[in-house]
Amino acid sequence: MHESEAVILRCWPVNEADLVVSFFTREFGKVKGVAKSGLKSRKRFGGALEPMTQARAWFAVKPRQELVRLDQLELERSPLAGQVDYARTAVLSFYAEVLDEALPEHDPQETVFRLLAAVLDATTVEQPWLPVTYFGLWMTRLMGWLPELGVCTACGEALKAGEASFHPGSDGLFCSLHRQGAGMVLDGDSWAVAQRMLRAPVTAFQGEQWPRKRAQALRRFTWQALERHLERRLRTVDAMRQLGA
Ligand SMILES: [Zn+2]
Repeated sequence: MHESEAVILRCWPVNEADLVVSFFTREFGKVKGVAKSGLKSRKRFGGALEPMTQARAWFAVKPRQELVRLDQLELERSPLAGQVDYARTAVLSFYAEVLDEALPEHDPQETVFRLLAAVLDATTVEQPWLPVTYFGLWMTRLMGWLPELGVCTACGEALKAGEASFHPGSDGLFCSLHRQGAGMVLDGDSWAVAQRMLRAPVTAFQGEQWPRKRAQALRRFTWQALERHLERRLRTVDAMRQLGA
């Protein structure tokens, strides 16, 4: 039997009363398991199945089986404990979708786990756009999908603030000479924010104003990179675009 800190990513019903739960553990990485009678047993799973719930998980790995047996979850912190609105919910759903899609199973990702814990702490109704920007940038980086930000991908020349552009079809940033047709410009603030975020914890930015439009181009840049490498559209990105983020 294993015991680990965990964050719930997603769950869906199987059979009559059972659930399959995808959860991200600190020690074992992403795991999928069957919670027997998960729909009914409030004693063993009570209140801990909402995506982005932080919980302690007890589970058993069965030989030659893809799914573990999830025996119990003990709620540590529910995303519903704080104030809830549409933007915060969309941001929390984005974390869950990206992690569920991007993480390999049974592969410990301690750095990603710490990133998630930090952004969950920082994600409030008052300030959803800072942590989601930070998470998108760092997930892209930690998955190995973040290109060099300082130079043009086509010619290698150093980029100047406000001139770098990007495009949904290709990795990297481009100088004004190599800008592609429908490309979007990474504005000077987005570019500067990206450089700072790669060197500082999310808490370093919490004293700043983070209106919805701030670093929008940086978010779009990382969302495009994530979708390109995952080879699919992210549902939660559409939800955030509809909010104008
Ligand atoms: Zn160039």
